[in-house]
Amino acid sequence: MSDDLMLDLSFTEDQLSLRELVRDVVKNEVVPARAELDANHEWPTKVFEKFKEAGLFSALFEEEVGGMGLGMMGNIILSEEIAYGCLGVGTAFLATKLGSLPIEVGGTPEQKKKWLEPVAAGEKTVAFGLTEPGAGSDVPAMTTIAEKKGEKYILNGTKQWISGAGQADIYTVFAMTNKSRGTRGISCFVVEKGTPGFSFGKKEEKLGIRCSETRQLIFEDCEVPAENIVGLRENNGFLHALKTLNLSRPAVAASAVGTAQGAFDCAIQYAREREQFGVKIASFQAIQHMLADMAMGIEASRLMTYRAAKMAEKGGKDVGRFSAMAKCFAADTAMKVATDAIQIHGGYGYTSEYPVEKYFRDAKILQIYEGTSQIQRNEIAAGLIKEAASKM
Ligand SMILES: Cc1cc2nc3c(=O)[nH]c(=O)nc-3n(C[C@H](O)[C@H](O)[C@H](O)COP(=O)(O)OP(=O)(O)OC[C@H]3O[C@@H](n4cnc5c(N)ncnc54)[C@H](O)[C@@H]3O)c2cc1C
Repeated sequence: MSDDLMLDLSFTEDQLSLRELVRDVVKNEVVPARAELDANHEWPTKVFEKFKEAGLFSALFEEEVGGMGLGMMGNIILSEEIAYGCLGVGTAFLATKLGSLPIEVGGTPEQKKKWLEPVAAGEKTVAFGLTEPGAGSDVPAMTTIAEKKGEKYILNGTKQWISGAGQADIYTVFAMTNKSRGTRGISCFVVEKGTPGFSFGKKEEKLGIRCSETRQLIFEDCEVPAENIVGLRENNGFLHALKTLNLSRPAVAASAVGTAQGAFDCAIQYAREREQFGVKIASFQAIQHMLADMAMGIEASRLMTYRAAKMAEKGGKDVGRFSAMAKCFAADTAMKVATDAIQIHGGYGYTSEYPVEKYFRDAKILQIYEGTSQIQRNEIAAGLIKEAASKM
């Protein structure tokens, strides 16, 4: 258990202003558009224009690259509030942060300036290319290779399920520069859309988060300048990936909190309106207990998420474990809350007439991407066992 139990979970004035702003944008721009974006599997271009106008892209970044400098809690606020309206829009938006993180954690000052300033300004978006068809949870099984030839690397391989692929301008792509060294032979490259030898697979037909495009990245003798290797050093990519996931998982947890809160608010409203047996269904204890359990799960998820985010801001050895705990718990809670929100709606909840059906379809991805719930549990247990061993 962490020694640092007395964490301050409060927001700064600037963070509270951001929350007001993003709530407004979500209410006016995301909620009215979400059903159509979902039905058409349409990338939220117009919504992102409004996000750019409101400065939400800059809220994702630190001041050194032109961002607002609202820290990890700024990202948490954005993730929670946007997912409250639509997790598809939230995923498409946060793909840019996920793709930028390897540069933030491992890039040189010049690389950060070159690649991230246009992103913080909302002029360019980013995607994160780690997963492969044969290497999902088992990241070290990756087969994408990057061979150095003079001042260039030649990339060959395929990345799978990449959020924002095709739409993003910049891609952080992980590839083996020294296969014999395993995870210590992985490097991260910045690859620009339009680079010869770099193409995209078909748009995947998904259960949920349908407005967030997901495609393969395909590299066929793709030449990338040597200066695009993150940190200008080979074989540090796995470290960049781990640091990235430690920092992004609290944001996924926050997305889960927002998704769950959205589904819950629909359910409690419906329970107050729907009548059966001559009374509002909210008067049945069975419904009340379901609502109470849902609210407790959301509250616990929110506290774990904020705590993990605060820890991630401070750094330290426990960040990975607490990020994994928050992500796993909040994702599992969001799935349960969305399921119960449908139950409270009865048959109406099973149709697209009510938004809980979409919350339910969207929530499932939270238990899969950025490490499945099983992988989070593996990481949590490994950390706990290591800590116990160190106390012997
Ligand atoms: C919509 C969507 C968007 C995504 N976006 C991105 C993205 O932007 N960038 C990116 O790089 N990736 C992305 N991913 C990939 C995502 O992170 C992977 O799908 C996820 O890590 C799981 O990998 P997999 O799908 O290969 O499943 P597998 O690893 O094949 O897992 C299958 C099942 O086996 C279980 N399992 C596997 N290994 C273990 C183990 N050791 N112990 C216990 N259980 C285990 C899993 O939990 C799961 O239940 C996305 C995926 C989806 C579906």
